[in-house]
Amino acid sequence: MLSKDKKVLNESEKEVDSKSDSPELKQLETKLSKWTKIKAKFEESLELNQIGEKLKGILFSTAGLNLKFLLIDGIVRYMGKVTKASPLLKFLTGYDAIILINKYEWEHLSPIQKEALVFHELCHIVLSDDGIKLRKHDVEEFVAVASRYGAWIDNLEEMKEALQDKNTKIKLEETSQDDVGSVQ
Ligand SMILES: [Zn+2]
Repeated sequence: MLSKDKKVLNESEKEVDSKSDSPELKQLETKLSKWTKIKAKFEESLELNQIGEKLKGILFSTAGLNLKFLLIDGIVRYMGKVTKASPLLKFLTGYDAIILINKYEWEHLSPIQKEALVFHELCHIVLSDDGIKLRKHDVEEFVAVASRYGAWIDNLEEMKEALQDKNTKIKLEETSQDDVGSVQ
């Protein structure tokens, strides 16, 4: 899961957060969040499917991996999420995993950010002999710790090197509009 802690929450969330002092409003907030969870809608997206299938081909050599990409619309506290299909869901649908992408966030990302988000979610998937497994992030750290101690552990050092790598294939600032067309 990619958290959106530092991203701008959508307008309705901001409004609720700023007025949640009284118990009545807390109650309303809880009701609202339950209601919106129920009202969450899933949507197909051709653009998301194309990016997802392209990246799946890059990350996984097997043709047998069956992934479903969907946008989710509603108050969702993540940018993207991978869910491994239960044996029953796999039996019913044939999908190994479902990748949900926050529609609001999706619509506010640049094409290359969209690709990075989907790539991130796909990195959670590991192929194993008996299907797929999900893995956690390589690095979880606070900026404050990095500011004080730098790359104090191996995986942080690897991340630092990756961020500093001059040969990084795709750079946000170098992506032209022409590149964009190929994924839409
Ligand atoms: Zn994640």
